[in-house]
Amino acid sequence: MRLTPLVLITCCTILSGGGAHAGSRAHFVEPLLFIAKGGVASPQVALTLDACSGQTDQRILNALIENQIPATIFVTGRWLKRNAASVAIMKAHPELFELENHGLNHVPAIDNQSEMFGLKTAGSLPAIRSEVEGGVNAMQIATAGKPVWYRDATARYSDNAIKLIHEMGYRVAGYSLNADMGASLLSGQVETRIAAAKDGDVIIAHINQPTRAAGAGVVKGILALKQKGFHFVRLNDVVEGEKPIGPNA
Ligand SMILES: [Zn+2]
Repeated sequence: MRLTPLVLITCCTILSGGGAHAGSRAHFVEPLLFIAKGGVASPQVALTLDACSGQTDQRILNALIENQIPATIFVTGRWLKRNAASVAIMKAHPELFELENHGLNHVPAIDNQSEMFGLKTAGSLPAIRSEVEGGVNAMQIATAGKPVWYRDATARYSDNAIKLIHEMGYRVAGYSLNADMGASLLSGQVETRIAAAKDGDVIIAHINQPTRAAGAGVVKGILALKQKGFHFVRLNDVVEGEKPIGPNA
C-alpha cells in the first residue's frame, strides 16, 4: 500500500480583477495552489484534470493507467451523466484516480458580474450554492465519492463565492501551472509547459476534449515529467489544509 506523502498546501491570490484597474469590472480572485516540494531526489507535482462536459480523452486516461500516474479529476454533473464507462474505469483504479467536484452544470462561482470568459456566471450566492451542491449530489448518484475539493468552471471566483464554498466545508482547488489554456493549445505547447513543471506545482489541464491536439501534449508532457523522475500525487494526498483565501489576499 502506498503511504500518503506529507504535502503542504499554500494558497493565495495570483490574479484579481476589478478595483482601480478594471473600471466597472467587479473584483474576483483566481487562487494559486501548490503542494509541498518533494526535494531534488523526489520532486512531485499534482496533476489535476477537468472534465467540464463533453467526452473523455482516452489518450490521457489510458496513459495514466498504463503508466500508473495518479491524478485528481474534476467532474461536473453534466460530464458524469455522459461518461459512465469512463467513470467506471476511474472507479476501478482507486489507487490512481481521485474524483472531485467541478459543479453541476459548469457555471462560474461568481455573484457580482454576469459573465466570465464568455460563460454566464451563477449570478447569486443561492445559485452558487446550488451549483456546488448539485455537483456533490451528481457525484453521489454516480457513486463517485464524496468530494473534498471544489473547482468552478473558470477557476475564478468572487470573494463571496470563496467564503461560501469554505463555509460549505470544501476546499477551493486553485492551480499553479496552466498546461493547456482550456485545451486550446497545440500538442507541442502543452508538452513543453508540462515538462517544465517545477517541484510542488499543481498542474491544470483537460480530459474532456478527445478531438483536440492539446490532449496529446498532456500525455507527452506527463511522460516527460515521469522520465525526469517526478512523482505524481493527488490533492487528497494533502494532509495540511490550504490557507484560507481572504478577499484581500
Ligand atoms: Zn471546466
